[in-house]
Amino acid sequence: MTPALWNIEQFRENVFRYAEELTDDPDNPVPKERVILQLDRDPEFQTILQKWHKLCGAEKVRDWKRVLALAETHAREILPSCLMCGECCRHGSPTLHVEDLELLRQGKIPWGALYTLRRGEPVHSPFKDELVFLVDERIKLREKPGGRQCLFFDGDTQECTIYADRPLQCRAQACWDPKPGEELTAQPYLTRKDIFGEVDVLWDLLEEHDRRCAFEKLTAAFKALEETRGEAVDQVLDLLAYEDHFRNFVAEKLNIPRSQLELVFGRSFADLVQVFGFRVDVGPDGTRVLVPDAPSEEAKEE
Ligand code: SF4
Repeated sequence: MTPALWNIEQFRENVFRYAEELTDDPDNPVPKERVILQLDRDPEFQTILQKWHKLCGAEKVRDWKRVLALAETHAREILPSCLMCGECCRHGSPTLHVEDLELLRQGKIPWGALYTLRRGEPVHSPFKDELVFLVDERIKLREKPGGRQCLFFDGDTQECTIYADRPLQCRAQACWDPKPGEELTAQPYLTRKDIFGEVDVLWDLLEEHDRRCAFEKLTAAFKALEETRGEAVDQVLDLLAYEDHFRNFVAEKLNIPRSQLELVFGRSFADLVQVFGFRVDVGPDGTRVLVPDAPSEEAKEE
């Protein structure tokens, strides 16, 4: 249908479609939401939008050509600032840096919104599409269950609910340019030592947990399971039971809230078995069973 016959909804749909076409190129890092937002803030576009319903057919065709030109300009000339398009927030949550500790201490970000990826755990590299094994631990904001969206991204408004107090990575990264995000890797990352290092009793127990329940031990147990064609299943189950007992015992003794267990001890072995293509089912009598499952996507380090 010619633009001469479009009503305002059709005009908007076609703007959206054109922005999609402009940003469809895999070499173009600019997300379409970003182009739409820039266009939306363009006074000339706003003038056309406001008067669209009053225009005659010929004027609509003339102004539509102008909108196409504006969209092309905005896809090419990206404003060097965050417009809250939500692109970064939809594809993962941030990894925290030492600088973010103040936000946590001030209560701007709740402790229960964090989790730890321990040394040796597999994560998706943000720079290459591959799994990497962490040489040092990382602390991240949680993602929404079953996906990668940051916990603080509001799906209705498409906005960050803690924007004024968002972590360093969110303030630094730019959806149109990967460089600032890469440069951020030179900044010191937040670790549990920064948070709990001065609480001697807890810190000693965390070190003990890391020694006895290292991810490498889980890897070794699954390797044995594979080599013995399932005979060594008890080795895996014993490790799961031990790790579970350790975290729950310490949590109870030290009154650690359940919402903070994944920050204090990292993800449980029971959750990490997904990395190896299994899940843990618990029978009516409480017996744990290891069941083959589809491997899940791991957390993305950013
Ligand atoms: S904290 Fe806010 S800005 Fe950062 S990823 Fe989450 S929703 Fe986006």
